Amino acid sequence: MKVMLLGAPGAGKGTVAKLLTALDGSVQISTGDILRAEVRAGSDLGKKAEAFMKAGDLVPDSLIMDMMEKRLQQEDCKKGFLLDGFPRTIPQAQDLKKMMAKLNIDLDMVINIDVPRPVILDRLCTRRTCVNADCQAIYNVKSNPTKVEGICDKCGSPAVQREDETEAAITHRLETYNEKTAPLIGFYEKEGKFKNVPCTSSDDVVNAVKEALKL
Ligand code: ADP
Ligand code: ZN
Repeated sequence: MKVMLLGAPGAGKGTVAKLLTALDGSVQISTGDILRAEVRAGSDLGKKAEAFMKAGDLVPDSLIMDMMEKRLQQEDCKKGFLLDGFPRTIPQAQDLKKMMAKLNIDLDMVINIDVPRPVILDRLCTRRTCVNADCQAIYNVKSNPTKVEGICDKCGSPAVQREDETEAAITHRLETYNEKTAPLIGFYEKEGKFKNVPCTSSDDVVNAVKEALKL
């Protein structure tokens, strides 16, 4: 499947993407994960992106578009992909439209994961992420805690609060979302193939995709 997942930070795009990849072997393309890997690797892109990310600001559109143009042409995307965290701005969406026309890629659908604001806030403050780059398992101190506090169940590495998940950074990310990313809903409503899924659980979204794509 070729699906775009929209939604506020903490809406569960990453979790839903992982569940959907299990259905048909499509790959998850998370711009946040790619950027964090670039930062860890100390690449040129990583160095340019790091300060924006720490502050909870968006990385400039041009850097993201170059990165995604390369990513979408990799072999593993042919089977299908789930866009998680991209596009994040109207200019990114406009450029993506041109890029997909050029690369002959057609999206099956655009899903907006619509989660109530209080649920989002609570989730982001209680999220813990495994620091091991090859694992990156996600936990929640309330709803999905690690068996041993602060230690990843899967690989034994520390599971910690991300640097951009302090309260100040979270508030800022949500403001950025409202201002820059939420307008994408209107953009894709006009483009068609758009579906809003009001939900509190990731399974609601998976079921909506299964139904729409007859999987
Ligand atoms: P979230 O939990 O907010 O969905 P992500 O892991 O998707 O977080 O992204 C983390 C950070 O990476 C963002 O706050 C932003 O700085 C940067 N980022 C990720 N995707 C994009 C994008 N498409 N455009 C600009 N910046 C991005
Ligand atoms: Zn782990």
